[in-house]
Amino acid sequence: EFCGGCVQICPVGALLNRLPLYEYRPWMLTRTETTCAYCADGCSLRLESRPQTREVIEVTSFWGNETKSIWGQGRNEGDLCAKGYFGYQFVNSPNRLTKPLIRKEGRRDSPLVEASWEEAIERVAEGFGRIKTEHGGSAFGALASARCTNESLYAFQKFVRLVLGSPNIDSSVRYGMVNAARAMTDLTGLPRWLPSYEEITQADLIFVIGTDITQTNPIVGLKVKAAAKRGAKLIAATPLRRRVSTMSHIVNRATRHLAHRPGAERAVAIGLVKAVMEKGSLAKEVASNPAVRRLRDTVSALSPKQIEAAAGVAYEQIEAAAGEWVAAPRAVMIFGESILRSLDGYETIRVLGDLALLTGKLIAEGSGLAPLFEENNELGAYEMGVVPDGLPGLGRTDDESDRDRLSQVWKEPIPSGPGLTMIEMLRAVREGRIKALYLMGENPVGSLPASSAAAEALDAAEFVVCQDLFLTESGRKADVVLPAASFAEQNGTFTNQEGRVQAVRKAIEPIHGTRPDWEILSQIALEMGYPLEYQDGAELSHEIGRLWSACRPGGPGWRGQPKRSEQAGAADRYLNQGLTEGISERYRLDPAENSAASNGRFHLAIGPVLFHSGKMSLQAA
Ligand code: SF4
Repeated sequence: EFCGGCVQICPVGALLNRLPLYEYRPWMLTRTETTCAYCADGCSLRLESRPQTREVIEVTSFWGNETKSIWGQGRNEGDLCAKGYFGYQFVNSPNRLTKPLIRKEGRRDSPLVEASWEEAIERVAEGFGRIKTEHGGSAFGALASARCTNESLYAFQKFVRLVLGSPNIDSSVRYGMVNAARAMTDLTGLPRWLPSYEEITQADLIFVIGTDITQTNPIVGLKVKAAAKRGAKLIAATPLRRRVSTMSHIVNRATRHLAHRPGAERAVAIGLVKAVMEKGSLAKEVASNPAVRRLRDTVSALSPKQIEAAAGVAYEQIEAAAGEWVAAPRAVMIFGESILRSLDGYETIRVLGDLALLTGKLIAEGSGLAPLFEENNELGAYEMGVVPDGLPGLGRTDDESDRDRLSQVWKEPIPSGPGLTMIEMLRAVREGRIKALYLMGENPVGSLPASSAAAEALDAAEFVVCQDLFLTESGRKADVVLPAASFAEQNGTFTNQEGRVQAVRKAIEPIHGTRPDWEILSQIALEMGYPLEYQDGAELSHEIGRLWSACRPGGPGWRGQPKRSEQAGAADRYLNQGLTEGISERYRLDPAENSAASNGRFHLAIGPVLFHSGKMSLQAA
């Protein structure tokens, strides 16, 4: 899966990348160090481009003794997966939108036709202005993609909250990342990882659950495999079986495999908590806490047989895994989309957090929880406040002091109270409570299941604006479509899942006719009479840095993990108050016959694969 690396280092040129073959001479290319736009592993890579023709020709990685690189070899230490090496062609895809599209005569039943930027911006400003005057700010819903830069996401939520006056904003983090963010915040006070990639490679034990990590987050998968090679124990809890086709499959490398029933991750986690409590393997600082006694009573009521039936794993196997977890001085728990995207994802992560807390591995150096995210900037979107209940810098919309802090920077009052989530918004559109939708890189019709009735919602909306690289399923239903620039055509930052805020650098000018998202937002705001003007991404980065220290060069959290000692207070609070909250719901076992995969029914597991993720890779050869 890291075949691009072989091509790059082949000493005799026997292996060549066929994509740019005969397209260039090396001296024709300009090299730009930037960050991958696919998954949240956050790899550093180099775009080899021809700025004169605005073409990205090839992707290469840092390797060897290249000390000139601004980040050394990046968090990926010179490795890239196949998507990183070969998935760049969407930038110069002939299917890119290069002109705004509007409905002829403004009627939804007329075709989308090309228009000038002036006409399109005017049409958007007029449509938004009319709906705001007639129905007020709450008549707007706004959805963004977590693939956009922090700067564009920040500008988007500011536009929605200030210019449209709406609290209804959400993003693709709703597909699962918010479950992790909420649970992690409950447990440690922050939605961020405490362990770093280096601590994964140095761990004595890694527990991987709910992810096919080689497919979804291959570079973190490499860190896990490096630890296993060093001699770390590797427990893989997954319904996936061993494979003969690829040695790198995580189950093949595992020292213990808990082959549970599909969708039964929470049952496995409950079994581990029960085993730890009944073996008396609790950390001494928690053992006598009254909340822990209550938890012991709860798990004691569950029999090993019930756990086996719900999890589909022999209880002795779970006990053995729990023993290994307790014995490891440095243990990291990595979990992914099968948990994050499940209906009980939040509860499952809380149970996994309980396990770490009870065994003294939640805050301890070298240990901790590490949720994996699919899209490159999911943590960034969450921290930029592109969620209905959050504000930039992890503020809360229902917290007056957080709103005051933000309004001092924005010099405007902030709409109070939480807005609607993505699914609630789509329902509100169908019911006529929301009249207009603004989509920035998000494609609900193409991404959500039919049961969400996203297509019907877009049909029912009075006015839909879609801003994207391509004409998506949602764009085809919009009143105005605005062509956006890709990550290769703008400056900004992405925040990877580990919490590193990394630079995105412009390799080429925007493809003719396209504009960066933040610039489009600025122009619409100006047309609507609101001064939301920014000259470049750096001006936005500076404003973000005032609100969120992790985005301020040199500030706390900037290119580093949060200080564990500072999160200890939050973990104590969780132990004393949070541990017993929702305990019966969290530790309720669904009988096996109720599980999705029982009685001849299938359990559908969805997620990215090594060679495909979202609509960008669909546009790469
Ligand atoms: S897709 Fe993920 S693992 Fe692959 S190169 Fe990009 S950031 Fe790295």
